[in-house]
Amino acid sequence: MKKLKNQKFIFVVGGVMSGVGKGVTASSIGKMLQFTGYKVSAVKIDPYVNVDAGTMNPTEHGETFVLEDGYETDQDMGNYERFLNTSLCRESYMTTGSIYQKVIHKERSLGYKGKTVSVVPHVPLAVIEQIKKAAKKEEADITIVEIGGTVGEYENILFLEAARMMKRKNSEDVAFVLVSYLPVPNTLGEMKTKPTQQAVRTLQESGVFPDIIVGRSPGSMDDRRKSKIATSSMLEDSDIISAPNLDSIYDLPEYFLKEELDIKLLKKLKLRKKTNKKGDFDKKAWNTFVKNTKESSNEVSIAVVGKYFGTGDFVLSDAYVSVIEALKFSAAQLKIKIKIDWLQAQDFEGSDKNKNLKQLKKYDGVLVPGGFGNSGIEGKINVIEYVRKNKIPFFGICLGMQMASVEFARNVLKLNDAHSTEVYPKTFYPIVDILPEQKEKMKKGDYGGSMRLGSYKAHLKRGTLARKIYKTDVISERHRHRYELTINEHKERFEKKGFIISGTSPDGLLPEIIELNQKIHPFFIAVQFHPELQARPLDPHPIFTAFLKAGLKS
Ligand code: GLN
Repeated sequence: MKKLKNQKFIFVVGGVMSGVGKGVTASSIGKMLQFTGYKVSAVKIDPYVNVDAGTMNPTEHGETFVLEDGYETDQDMGNYERFLNTSLCRESYMTTGSIYQKVIHKERSLGYKGKTVSVVPHVPLAVIEQIKKAAKKEEADITIVEIGGTVGEYENILFLEAARMMKRKNSEDVAFVLVSYLPVPNTLGEMKTKPTQQAVRTLQESGVFPDIIVGRSPGSMDDRRKSKIATSSMLEDSDIISAPNLDSIYDLPEYFLKEELDIKLLKKLKLRKKTNKKGDFDKKAWNTFVKNTKESSNEVSIAVVGKYFGTGDFVLSDAYVSVIEALKFSAAQLKIKIKIDWLQAQDFEGSDKNKNLKQLKKYDGVLVPGGFGNSGIEGKINVIEYVRKNKIPFFGICLGMQMASVEFARNVLKLNDAHSTEVYPKTFYPIVDILPEQKEKMKKGDYGGSMRLGSYKAHLKRGTLARKIYKTDVISERHRHRYELTINEHKERFEKKGFIISGTSPDGLLPEIIELNQKIHPFFIAVQFHPELQARPLDPHPIFTAFLKAGLKS
């Protein structure tokens, strides 16, 4: 396809409050524009000072999404990759911390040639430089740029300034979408537009004038309210789009199409809507996927045993969103319904342990995802022992694989205090241990961005379950961990009892996939990497699909 003369940018900002689905709205706008045949990419800006999302607590911030190139980013990047069906580069993500780090580095290396370096314009200029670099690297016709946080906050002012500066320079290449919230207070039962009107005004004060306003609310917005918002923001009524809650987030691109948001946005960017085979093909595939998510034939019920679910009195599954989405994509591929229960690993440790373990029988499969630190560890090991003995399909990810190996060492090989040195540094059998280069980093307090991160190749062993699932000898998967399985000393004993290392690093030294011989257990597989990070609606991950298939049979 012919390239556009100028690359186009759509900034998406949030009004009234956070958590109203700005990321999903921005991703859906991107998907919808993909259907028009343009090449679409995304950039996410997070206003916090952390240099990346790798050092943040998952209960507070949700999952850390690792890109192919190893950059640790916010979970919204996962949404972009899943909706747009693409792998994004590290330039596609930035924080206040990462931008300041760049500006300071440039200043220290005389990059500003002795000039005074000021917050404005130098910081917004660095933001613009990175946005453009990302668009160029992705060869995007249109780049969606999501600015995190809410309009009016102190923290995202410099990013809004960058957006304003870009608009000033290339007015026809930049559009703004405000995603705002429309409350319906219980006491009134009426949808209120005032907070959104105020958000528009605040945005305008920073020199940014929205082209489209998307109003998020549980129900639809009527014409009267659209008109009120349009009047106060100098827009046409048709520029105000209602975005009510839908059955599934994946319904949103199609919903926006019905609202003709594609035509409206392209017009603002002075682009023509074109029909193109790739766009049509993508739209068809997407619609089939959405239709399949609504299949309600067979149901598979899966338990995810994690530890980052509790925040105060609330249960959040944000820390595992990619795992959950990956399960949903495979369920859609198999045209089955999936029921996911989040179980706290800690509940399998205390006095209720046995009672709770027995409850696992009702599941068609048990998944133990990744994690860090001590809490819930013994609970996970107990769960794995139970599913191994009771032949319940099991899928372990990262920490899940490490604990599956510890469980096997302890309970089958009788290496009694076997453990990971992350949890019990003095163990006599360090089945899972830190690599020497990682140890050096820890000594220096070098915790940020220093794990084994990003895509690595692995070689699969012929005749194994893993090889059958992937249907290829070499795979590439994304990693995020500091510890590794170190069972070489005991390898023969493990193998004799049916524990198979079915995938290793290309040099054969690091185990990447383990499984139990299918004569012992119908489906017991665990991986050192994070397969969920590569699962896409239009390209579900084969292990998740195989796991659900095994669940269907059980
Ligand atoms: N905590 C373990 C490690 O660092 C596992 C990490 C994970 O599950 N992502 O190796």
